[in-house]
Amino acid sequence: MYDVAVVGSGPTGLMLAGELALAGVDVVILERRSTPDLVGSRARGFHSRTIEIFDQRGIVDRFLAEGRTAQALSFGSTSLDAGTLPSRHPYTLGLGQSHIERILLGWVEELGVPVRRGLEVAGFVQDDAGVDVHVAEGEPLRTAYLVGADGGRSVIRTVADIDLVGAKATRSHLIAEVEVTEETPTGLRLDDVGIHAMNVMEDGRTVGMVVTEQQLGPATEPTLAELCEALTAVYGTDFGAHDPRWISRFTDATRQAVAYRRGRVLLAGDAAHIHPPTGGQGIGLGVQDAVNLGWKLAQVVRGVSPDSLLDSYQAERQPTTARVLKNVMAQALLQRGDARTEATRDTISELLSFGGPRAQLAGLLSGLDVCYDLGDGHRLLGRRMPDLDLTTAHGPRRVFELLHDARPVLLDLGEPHSIDITPWADRVQHISADYTGTWELPVIGTVTAPVAVAIRPDGHVAWVGDGTQTGLGEALTTWFGQPAKKNDA
Ligand SMILES: Cc1cc2nc3c(=O)[nH]c(=O)nc-3n(C[C@H](O)[C@H](O)[C@H](O)COP(=O)(O)OP(=O)(O)OC[C@H]3O[C@@H](n4cnc5c(N)ncnc54)[C@H](O)[C@@H]3O)c2cc1C
Repeated sequence: MYDVAVVGSGPTGLMLAGELALAGVDVVILERRSTPDLVGSRARGFHSRTIEIFDQRGIVDRFLAEGRTAQALSFGSTSLDAGTLPSRHPYTLGLGQSHIERILLGWVEELGVPVRRGLEVAGFVQDDAGVDVHVAEGEPLRTAYLVGADGGRSVIRTVADIDLVGAKATRSHLIAEVEVTEETPTGLRLDDVGIHAMNVMEDGRTVGMVVTEQQLGPATEPTLAELCEALTAVYGTDFGAHDPRWISRFTDATRQAVAYRRGRVLLAGDAAHIHPPTGGQGIGLGVQDAVNLGWKLAQVVRGVSPDSLLDSYQAERQPTTARVLKNVMAQALLQRGDARTEATRDTISELLSFGGPRAQLAGLLSGLDVCYDLGDGHRLLGRRMPDLDLTTAHGPRRVFELLHDARPVLLDLGEPHSIDITPWADRVQHISADYTGTWELPVIGTVTAPVAVAIRPDGHVAWVGDGTQTGLGEALTTWFGQPAKKNDA
């Protein structure tokens, strides 16, 4: 029996499997694709917080070496300057999804995670002790926990009978890679129906295109004939499109699972939330789900924390994602070329000439403003810990370096030995350090320097110390389990 089976080796499943493996959990990935190759192009990059998360695990250089950094934050027609964000990575990274998945796969393979390919999961049955996972062909597999990271059409979500709620589809788009007999225009076009885009691909022959359909298309596999019809309606010609390498359809449906968990079965990434690609938020949301869930599930599997810790996964991720989805819907609505939409875009653009709204939106779009509701207190509580340059007894260290192993950190910036976390010493790293710089948070600005912080493996601050230990034991117990008894050591 596995501890955890993750269905899907997309970005979310891979990240989650890596997190679980780092925590010593016996995890397997079940993937229906028989090779790692990805058909068609999907994501073209991700934003600052996702880059930071990869930095927290020591793998960011692999992405930076292959991608192209860009100031690509925007809302409507207004560019927002990512360069002013208080982050070591104040930019968006342009990198295709096939490369993102290849890099993540390399990482999870180094961590020893088996990826069982060509296995289509058809359903599951759970009981008090575990889950039987049924595959289309072959024997069922037994696992203690099952995570559906199986994308927008998640079988796990369907079998778990978890509804998606939110805005239903009003517009559909065909995305394709085809050969053509006529020259195509390149770049974006906006009209009354929506947004359309074309670009000639690296081979110089194939054209990548997105075309908004005149009417909402059916939930069936799209055909070349439908693509030609949509092209003709927009451009007056289908450019002699032929030999499609790939045609797919996506819509503006923006919906979230009502529950992220049913007993021993959990959802993550697109399986838990679907939305159009506008703004490029999908990878970041999935990666954030994975790093939020991974260490919690690992602690539950290892008996360090009660099963109820898993409820904090939905409590934290669902509202955070809801904010992002609202923004995606608003952006998608602005992707039209009619006079009213243009007027709305221009009005928003004017409002975005003010620093406050610009900073607010940049914080949200970059993912750097995420704040989990961990109660009242210092402004750092629940927010992502900034990557400070520390001085320690072992030399200079960055905060993110302390998180490479995905283990919690008690960062003690006060008098040495003034904080005692002996009962959690087997789980929490106690790092004494000096830091004399300012504490600047995205959107909020400078905050009072704390004397100590407890940092969860996902990089979010679980406790802030003012020179006393008030609330520390409670926070460590909540997040990292009961204190060890003296004779446990
Ligand atoms: C046109 C387009 C452009 C996009 N651009 C961006 C962008 O620029 N930036 C961005 O952040 N996001 C973008 N996205 C969104 C992004 O691609 C997704 O959000 C992301 O892939 C979600 O990752 P995931 O791992 O949750 O799901 P997926 O990537 O969908 O992975 C799911 C995996 O599960 C497997 N699977 C499914 N069902 C089963 C089953 N029954 N059994 C076994 N395996 C199964 C699939 O084969 C797949 O490997 C774009 C999406 C589209 C369509």
